[in-house]
Amino acid sequence: MGDIFNKETRSQIMRMVKSKGNKSTELKFIEYLKEFKIKGWRRNYKLYGNPDFVFLKLKTAIFIDGCFWHGHNCKNNMPKTNEEYWKNKIEKNKKRDKKVTEHLINKGWKVIRIWECQLKKKNKDQLINMLKDLQ
Ligand SMILES: [Zn+2]
Repeated sequence: MGDIFNKETRSQIMRMVKSKGNKSTELKFIEYLKEFKIKGWRRNYKLYGNPDFVFLKLKTAIFIDGCFWHGHNCKNNMPKTNEEYWKNKIEKNKKRDKKVTEHLINKGWKVIRIWECQLKKKNKDQLINMLKDLQ
């Protein structure tokens, strides 16, 4: 089967994909939930857009978005090569994120989107503030 990417791009993609399904981000978030004494969350709940965490009683869905994949402007880590490819991919993700958020809100859900970088210790106050309705 032919590969539409050259070798360099392919290995770049593999590196990015690895950082995508980052379990450590979710685990870090769970630690915060425990620390903030937030209960009633579920993981892997089947809902449109596959949120990372769902609070059924509060009808709240939480997405933890990787800064690179979802186009956060916190750091400019765009790969130097194939910039167009990455830009397109990230644009698509952003569009899908928006669609998912709108869809869920229309269905009466509250949607909280948290950037990966907001899980850093120095941003903890900000995070508590975002989650205060869940405590
Ligand atoms: Zn960020």
